[in-house]
Amino acid sequence: MLDHSGMETLAKTVQSPPTDAAPTAGPNFIRHIIDADLAAGKVAGKVITRFPPEPNGYLHIGHAKSICLNFGLARDYQGFCNLRFDDTNPAKEDIEYVDSIQADVKWLGFDWGNRMFYASDYFEKIYNCAVQLINQGKAYVCSLNAEEMRKYRGTLTEPGRPSPDRDRTVSENLDLFSRMRAGEFEDGKCVLRAKIDMSSPNINLRDPAIYRIRRAHHHKTGDQWCIYPMYDYAHPLSDYFEGITHSICTLEFEDHRPFYDWVLENLKTTPERPHQYEFSRLNINYTVMSKRKLLELVQGKHVIGWDDPRMPTIQGMRRRGFSPAAIRDFCERIGVTKKDNCIEIGLLESCIRDDLDKRAPRRMAVLNPLRVVIENYPEGKTEEFDVPNHPQKPELGTRKVPFSRVIYVEQDDFMEVPPNKFFRLGPGKEVRLRSAYFLKCHDFVQDAAGKVIELKCTYDPETRGGSNPPDGRKVKGTIHWVSEAHSQKAEVRLYDRLFSVPLPGAGDSDYLTQINPKSLEILKDARVEPALAAGVGEESFQFERIGYFCVDRKDSKSDKLVFNRTVTLKDSWAKEKEA
Ligand code: ATP
Ligand code: MG
Repeated sequence: MLDHSGMETLAKTVQSPPTDAAPTAGPNFIRHIIDADLAAGKVAGKVITRFPPEPNGYLHIGHAKSICLNFGLARDYQGFCNLRFDDTNPAKEDIEYVDSIQADVKWLGFDWGNRMFYASDYFEKIYNCAVQLINQGKAYVCSLNAEEMRKYRGTLTEPGRPSPDRDRTVSENLDLFSRMRAGEFEDGKCVLRAKIDMSSPNINLRDPAIYRIRRAHHHKTGDQWCIYPMYDYAHPLSDYFEGITHSICTLEFEDHRPFYDWVLENLKTTPERPHQYEFSRLNINYTVMSKRKLLELVQGKHVIGWDDPRMPTIQGMRRRGFSPAAIRDFCERIGVTKKDNCIEIGLLESCIRDDLDKRAPRRMAVLNPLRVVIENYPEGKTEEFDVPNHPQKPELGTRKVPFSRVIYVEQDDFMEVPPNKFFRLGPGKEVRLRSAYFLKCHDFVQDAAGKVIELKCTYDPETRGGSNPPDGRKVKGTIHWVSEAHSQKAEVRLYDRLFSVPLPGAGDSDYLTQINPKSLEILKDARVEPALAAGVGEESFQFERIGYFCVDRKDSKSDKLVFNRTVTLKDSWAKEKEA
């Protein structure tokens, strides 16, 4: 679990921090489109985008990509980005999600100002548009049931057949549609369909449903409506009402674009219409991304909640210790393309490391403590060392670390019979205690079961601060430690990837059976240096030689410290692959 290289090797692997700007940025074809539009004098010089979540779950890192893209374009082109709740499906939506989405977008560092909207704000207008389509003979009420609809629709290789209701008159349709709204029909009894082309090779144009009857309480409009517009129909209209110029969505909507355009063309909207552009959605290996699956993980109690630090949700990543800047950096680096892809989770982890390496104060924490008695150190004496908070950043200052006769070191840093290349503690072996003294092990104490429970050591007073002794003696290993009397107990939660296979759920596999059994290990008896004792908030630290950790923002209290491992110092999975 511990990184077995000493601190010296660690220093060599420190990566140069990426800047926030261009050099690490991936391609972004949407920018080229906007540049061309602006150059051609289109979009009245103002770029207006939107981020349109459906409030039926918590946001995940895929949404973060979309947020960074939409809000990022608005920022870079001095335009606007609207936050729009696409709340057309009341059965699955909830105010809890509306609140969490706002909190997450803000936390990521974006601001919609006063431009927060709901598709439900437009329900009356969207209804009137449907009436307009009926009046033009371009929409009709269809009474086929779902099963019959499917049969009539045809397949990819066979054209569809017209519904027996396709030729209802305008007045008949107007009457039926208003009665749908008035609640005269039970759920599913009929739908309003656009009248386009039942033989179109694009199934989305085979008279798609645009309104359905659904008696469900809506978190915003209550029981005012019993009919709700379909997403594909409501979306272009919402974009149009808000003056969106570039409506950016993921690739699975490519085939829906002709219908998006059909709606706006047939409603005779002004020429400055929004246009839809599709990019490939973010997939990351060793995780699942769909809200449905994330909800299953929560409801099935496979994780502790939406904010479980193993979840790819924004709340989960926040609790895990990822910073907004690191997530934005990741979204920038992966770029925006039309190619289907699966990003290595290692890339995300390396963005997190780069960010934390730059700013996380260094601390000493012993996860699996082994007691060390320094027999030649006076009883009752305490010394304090000034230890830098960051090896390359003196501006981050120093802290006082107390030292005394009894300390703890990591159990892994001692071996009864050490092999040749083991440069840490063993009988007769000497190491440097980080920033303190040289320490030499003479003997060890075992319990009845033979487990080593204490080391008997001596220190060299001539190595104060961890400096080399006058006799020129060298040691290869440097280890971390904490003083028994001054350190505090802590619970440390070691998080790892939630799934043990790269593509959970691939093929016919059940992703729920592919959860990594070692995705969480809880250490209850860790000990941390006094500078970590505040224990509240959500600050991040590097525990030297171990990894990056943060204070658990929910469970950590000043009398019961809890730390989450954000990420290890190096990619331990890459090492496994090489081995
Ligand atoms: P999911 O499929 O995970 O349930 P969704 O697409 O149904 O997500 P929405 O709330 O509709 O979720 O998404 C809001 C916006 O975020 C949409 O514009 C959608 O295209 C975008 N988005 C969702 N998932 C991803 C992803 N994995 N990568 C990039 N953008 C995404
Ligand atoms: Mg969706």
